[in-house]
Amino acid sequence: MIVMKFGGTSVADASALTALRTAVASATGSRVIVVSALAGVTDLLVEVTTEADQGSLDGVAVRLQALLDRHLDIARDLGLGEHPSLESDLQAELTRVAARLAAPGGLAEGWRDAVLGTGELLSSRLVVAVLQSVGLPAVWCDAREVIRTDARFGGAFPDREAIAVLSHSVIEPLLSAGQIPVTQGFIGSTADGRPTVLGRGGSDFSAALLGAALGAEQVEIWTDVSGLMTADPRIVPEARVLAEATYDEAAELAAFGAKVLHPATQLPLIEARIPIVIRNTFKPEAPGTRIVGESQVEDDLPVRSISFKRGVVVLQVRAARMLGAFGFLRRIFEVFERHEIVVDVLATSEVSVSLTVDPSPRLEAVVADLRVIGEVTMRDHRGIIAVVGRAIRDTPGITARVYQAIADVNIEMISQGASASNLTFIVREEQGPETVRALHRTFFGSAP
Ligand code: ASP
Ligand code: MG
Repeated sequence: MIVMKFGGTSVADASALTALRTAVASATGSRVIVVSALAGVTDLLVEVTTEADQGSLDGVAVRLQALLDRHLDIARDLGLGEHPSLESDLQAELTRVAARLAAPGGLAEGWRDAVLGTGELLSSRLVVAVLQSVGLPAVWCDAREVIRTDARFGGAFPDREAIAVLSHSVIEPLLSAGQIPVTQGFIGSTADGRPTVLGRGGSDFSAALLGAALGAEQVEIWTDVSGLMTADPRIVPEARVLAEATYDEAAELAAFGAKVLHPATQLPLIEARIPIVIRNTFKPEAPGTRIVGESQVEDDLPVRSISFKRGVVVLQVRAARMLGAFGFLRRIFEVFERHEIVVDVLATSEVSVSLTVDPSPRLEAVVADLRVIGEVTMRDHRGIIAVVGRAIRDTPGITARVYQAIADVNIEMISQGASASNLTFIVREEQGPETVRALHRTFFGSAP
């Protein structure tokens, strides 16, 4: 059994859905299909929730109608007019959101998640219809009955034990009956039935959760690029696709800029050693990238990829009176925990700590709280460059080659050794691309 997850661009329009249908038809054996919303739809739904918050229900109605029309147009382009229930199913889904948004007495807690998840409920209907149109035994399967989560709305945590039980009772019977379940990424629900979402980009994570619960042979992430690359090809035109990477390397790449995979995706799959394969929906002949455990990797390039994440904020906290005192780090991290801000890169000295965070309106309050501990400086428009490869820490000479390549760049902060597979440093954002190119030349040469 395999899980095939298709991202937003793989369901964006009639030609993408036709490519998706070919990919699903070409696979053999049992398959579970997981789909994202059509490209751009979740962004639009975020805007809808803002408008609803502001009470602009007319604006909301216009947008929801446009959303329905987009799906109906695609159905028409695909010649799905004959489908017995597609149009009414799509319509019913939209009616439900509209009713929720207009609910008298205000919006219930968690209402936003129900709205955000609508894109997947719609796209999965289209996918079922398009697969059925060539005789594939696709059935619609409601992810909210399987992906059980806590009630952390906006970015809920999955309950993996419950998901294992629910997958067996809901999905396995469909597979045994020879059907192809088509379900939604991104969405789930709490034990008491309130809809939740796993956080932006969470469909990959959904696919991994289902793959682990069902003991899949592999989880395939079908997208619009041919795999993980040695660098972002928009920055380095000669970047190439990696045939293989380890879970660790993929996690580092996902965390530091490569948008191909949601960072949590590999977590459920590591223990069961289920490979993740990244495939290109629009180039099915490309083998893609296979992500596996360290011992399963065949090639031994010490450096796999150079990633670059823009728009990072660096915070530095200095407290001279902490010299020789304990509890400094704990106090700092308590602040981030309280404000629920994720810290990416960290470097410490005896009396100061530098760390990176994503921009957020909550940073002002974070800085105010940190000022109680020490002197705080904040620098924005920084970029994180990560040199990723599973043997970086343990291969002599790599650090020297990195430093040589970036000799002319002002490195503001550096972090190495916390993971064997990552050497990370912070530069001014505008110096990022040139630095990435220099590193790429050093480790991968120029165009083959
Ligand atoms: N549709 C959701 C998003 O845009 C989930 C996903 O595509 O992975 O964030
Ligand atoms: Mg994605």
